[in-house]
Amino acid sequence: MTGEGAEVTALLLARGFVEVYERIANDGEPVRQDASLPGSARRALTLLSALSLEAGTEDLGCSIHVAMDRACKPFRAWGLPQFAPPFRYADVELVDRDLGVPTDDCREMASVGGTETTALEEIHHERLRAAVHGYPRGDRNHAYAAIREFIVRNPAVSEEGLHAFVVEGGHAAAARTVMSFYRPIPQAALFGRMARRCGHCGALLWPDRDAAFPDGRCRIRQCRLARPTPAVGDEVLPALWRVALNALLGFWVGPGLDEIRLYDALKAAGREASLYPQADAADVGVDGLAVGIDVKTYASPVVLAARLTRSIGRLDLFDRRIVAFPDDKLRLNWRYGEQLRSAYQGGRSLEFMTVSEAIRELSR
Ligand SMILES: [Zn+2]
Repeated sequence: MTGEGAEVTALLLARGFVEVYERIANDGEPVRQDASLPGSARRALTLLSALSLEAGTEDLGCSIHVAMDRACKPFRAWGLPQFAPPFRYADVELVDRDLGVPTDDCREMASVGGTETTALEEIHHERLRAAVHGYPRGDRNHAYAAIREFIVRNPAVSEEGLHAFVVEGGHAAAARTVMSFYRPIPQAALFGRMARRCGHCGALLWPDRDAAFPDGRCRIRQCRLARPTPAVGDEVLPALWRVALNALLGFWVGPGLDEIRLYDALKAAGREASLYPQADAADVGVDGLAVGIDVKTYASPVVLAARLTRSIGRLDLFDRRIVAFPDDKLRLNWRYGEQLRSAYQGGRSLEFMTVSEAIRELSR
């Protein structure tokens, strides 16, 4: 099989995992290796078996479980020579092992080729937009942003804090939706009788079998990448606390950590900054529609560039358009920005920089 075969296999795997995840999210069905497996996943496994055969390695396509386990690592670490660099998706991890959700890169790859896959993230955006529809027209954008911000700043929250936000923030109209974004603290997260919060992001620390993490480990990948040394926050009584749904931890909170950092730094520098302006046209806006910044946390600059080439979405509304990526991307791949710049083929000009560079650039 040619390099193209590896690429097609990777794209089909991405689509297969997104469809498997949707089935789990919608029907609560566990993944089974039988006729209930989505067609895209079955085709991907067949292609994966062919690649394994060609390379003379163990058959990675023999079961969805084997493939999913590999998918928690970057392609380069699958043990297949066809997926080693210079394979274009070598950096991509398809599944977030801790949260059990498809990664940004996976969701983007799933949409390559024009086949519509439901944008998983869209489901939650839609629910939030529907919820703020009950507000007076002039208040909707503000309410949307305030609720998103609250979730990013409070990935774990006390019942009391949640109640206070809904009541004092004037969010009674969206109360049910806001409550539904959180679930009880699971037993598996407990240390003895207590739950423990991440000292960096405020989400939960989870007990980890790896002896390197005796105090537990945060499940937000962007938090771990930004600060590899865990920090223990406060211990809380699980019965009185709640934690955001895994999908929201993966799709909103993870990328949101840098959005909030950027926003807080610009506010502190005296800039007229707003979070999720115009119901999420950008992650951070400065001076109305003068500057729009999107923070993207894709592992692969190639996948991110393809995403932006396809569409920059409503970032287009802004006069100056910046795509910022976490500082740690440069630590893992010092050519990340350069590769992103050269792979972007879109018609609208974009500026690419790290979040720290964006802060410096806009704080002047
Ligand atoms: Zn954390």
